[in-house]
Amino acid sequence: MDSIQDDVYAPKPELHDCHVHMVLDGVDWKAAIARHKQQPDESYIRKVLESYAQAGAVYVREGGDKYGAGWLARNIAREYGIEYASPVFPIYQKGNYGGFIGRSFQTIEEYERLVDEVYDRGGDYVKVMLSGIMDFDNYGTITGYTLPRQMVFSMIDYAHSKGLAVMAHVNGARAIQDAVEGGVDSVEHGYFSDEESREALANSDTIWVPTFSPISNCIGIGKYPDDVLKKIEADQTEAVRAVANMGGKIASGSDAGAGDVLHVKAAEDEYSYMKRALGDICDSVITRGLDEIRGRFASRAQ
Ligand SMILES: [Zn+2]
Repeated sequence: MDSIQDDVYAPKPELHDCHVHMVLDGVDWKAAIARHKQQPDESYIRKVLESYAQAGAVYVREGGDKYGAGWLARNIAREYGIEYASPVFPIYQKGNYGGFIGRSFQTIEEYERLVDEVYDRGGDYVKVMLSGIMDFDNYGTITGYTLPRQMVFSMIDYAHSKGLAVMAHVNGARAIQDAVEGGVDSVEHGYFSDEESREALANSDTIWVPTFSPISNCIGIGKYPDDVLKKIEADQTEAVRAVANMGGKIASGSDAGAGDVLHVKAAEDEYSYMKRALGDICDSVITRGLDEIRGRFASRAQ
């Protein structure tokens, strides 16, 4: 039922996606990477940008890749009328999650040299992996490990000292809390939070991008156990409601490129998942989230 209340809230924001991976296609990650391995496939990337433009996308933010696919997209996206922001490549600790797409470090000094490279190349911000990902087969399990709190603090501080914002891939209550308390600019995914980490998020300047799509898109397709996916989705829904109700900053990003998360379509899907979680306040929450993200993660492409 349409109600007068609809007018009280912000209108539906223009199409945007605060978390994508240009190098991936949502279908087959190995084949997708092979497409760009020798050099980024410019005509393919142009087609993807063209479809974002046709759908009316105004802003796209991505996680970067060591093959340069996302960076190429970032440098030509203005031709399509899209602001597209990229960290060049994501940074992960050797032995942890991120090897298929990122550049690795072992010591904090090695990390700092990678951030220097992002800075020198004109990257729009730094993307770091601070934990693994959700295990879709086992509820509550996260692959990889969580970086030590002190290292997380040092990593964020160094990027900030170069004037670069930090987009952090983080799952698990402790990892989320460490990142937030270290002053991270955005928490990506943020699955398996608890009450304390939600409060920390809500009371901070950190923007949360909860990425429902990689979980919600897989429900009912038979690839993973639905009971696990539904439980993860229900937890994330509850967390998003709680953080929004406490006044936290939340933005819409789909993880487009991840398994069964298709570019462009995912931006619409993610919006519908956010709407389902937040109801009437969805549009005002994600409009504010988008403004915050665009303020801190602007593309500096000419
Ligand atoms: Zn991602």
